[in-house]
Amino acid sequence: MQSMQQSIPQTRIFDTISKARLIFEKHGNRLLTDHDISRLLKKYRDAIGRTAELMRQMGVHRQCSRCASEGPGGCCFPGIEEGYDHILLLINLLMGCSPPDVQEVAGSCTFVGPHGCKLLARYYYCVHFLCPGLHDVLEPLSVKILLRTVGEELQAGWETERAIHAWLKRQERPDGGDCPAW
Ligand code: SF4
Ligand code: SF4
Repeated sequence: MQSMQQSIPQTRIFDTISKARLIFEKHGNRLLTDHDISRLLKKYRDAIGRTAELMRQMGVHRQCSRCASEGPGGCCFPGIEEGYDHILLLINLLMGCSPPDVQEVAGSCTFVGPHGCKLLARYYYCVHFLCPGLHDVLEPLSVKILLRTVGEELQAGWETERAIHAWLKRQERPDGGDCPAW
């Protein structure tokens, strides 16, 4: 495993994390008590749980956690985290999962920790990609079942992101205009 707490130059992702934290501090409680948002968050959290359970059963979770935390070479390479926007990171915060404020594993995605990925809500690439090594060990039917479950997770995530985006827009600009705060 790579050494921990490296002094690595801060990247754009830390600005995105800060933005998500600011919105969470300002609106988190009301988002969590909004009926529709809390329902969608639960639906998304449950879908994430189903994917994770399937990955555990198939051995994917173990293999990916080891691969990611042992350093460069896997699909959790540096820079890939820049694909995350503040809304998805806000969703992580709303689910009780706090994105890191420092890079922990050198030469990898900012979100890699000693036991693999630290995020709960992850974007398309992170949950949908299965490398050739995984395809070699998984039966085609298992891949099909897994990707169908992943698709349900992504759909639930998209619905949640869309609803939170609209909610935030209503708070800042009831007329529906662009909000400079986020
Ligand atoms: S999908 Fe493959 S390359 Fe990516 S973390 Fe899992 S085992 Fe490693
Ligand atoms: S967010 Fe997680 S799964 Fe995606 S590349 Fe980073 S560590 Fe890997």
